Amino acid sequence: MRIDLHAHSTASDGTDSPAGLVEAAAKAGLDVVAITDHDTTAGWAPAAEALPPGLTLVPGAELSTVSVDPATGRRVSVHLLAYLFDPASPALVAEQSRLRSERRTRLRAMAERMAADGLPVDPDEVMGLLPPDAPAGRPHLAQALVRAGRVESVNQAFAEYLGNGRGYYLPREDTPVETAIDMIADAGGVTVIAHPFAYTRGATITVDVLASLAAHGLTGVEVDHPNHDEETRVKLHGLAGELGLVRTGSSDYHGTNKTISLGEETTDPKSLEELVSRATGSRIVVG
Ligand code: AMP
Ligand code: ZN
Ligand code: FE
Ligand code: FE
Repeated sequence: MRIDLHAHSTASDGTDSPAGLVEAAAKAGLDVVAITDHDTTAGWAPAAEALPPGLTLVPGAELSTVSVDPATGRRVSVHLLAYLFDPASPALVAEQSRLRSERRTRLRAMAERMAADGLPVDPDEVMGLLPPDAPAGRPHLAQALVRAGRVESVNQAFAEYLGNGRGYYLPREDTPVETAIDMIADAGGVTVIAHPFAYTRGATITVDVLASLAAHGLTGVEVDHPNHDEETRVKLHGLAGELGLVRTGSSDYHGTNKTISLGEETTDPKSLEELVSRATGSRIVVG
């Protein structure tokens, strides 16, 4: 069994359509793939409809959340994977809609700052290319820089202009992570912290915060992720055992917006079983 529980489509900032994503997953030899777009479930239906025979789809999302360390007041961005929740849960729908709107305002502001500095970015064009109500993200702006020939890759755009701490990065008002865990639990879903110790992306949560989230009802942690080095994986594996968290591994595939392939990191079938057995909000889809 090859299981990849973290992948993005054009419903957020991947480059494969939801249907293309499940087709690519089957081609990559996966048995199970999760669709986890940022702050939206818009890809669930088209992915399920296009599901190739033999492939199982796990409906999910990657929620933009923030952790405030009670010990220091430090704010850290946390990506929270949520699976098998009821997508019609009213509190969740309202919060996701707020976040998507916030994402658009923020992306336009970033584009306007770049244009004001003479970079080849047209804010109206960038926003116009987004599907209506889609969660706008920095990769969309990075693509504009690639199209204009300013940079050669999305990666280079992040390194020079868009990464956390770079000149054009703007923060967002994300959901407190504890609130997000509660919302997903109320919607019958389970939660897994995505790439918790990916320090190359920016500040990461501490072990104490991870323990407090486990006590708050977090279900699991992503141990194997392209942005985790070997030492980090060993450490997280041990922590998951101590804290009673389900371990997952996944590619965080974004199509051609990143260099990683589907199935490059995978999840143990026992972990998937555990997640499925604890969720009641929606069901896996068997192709
Ligand atoms: P945002 O949601 O607007 O904050 O942008 C974050 C998105 O950009 C996530 O999907 C990340 O996976 C992606 N991302 C972050 N750093 C990079 C990078 N260096 N190259 C490509 N994509 C990145
Ligand atoms: Zn993304
Ligand atoms: Fe993420
Ligand atoms: Fe992701």
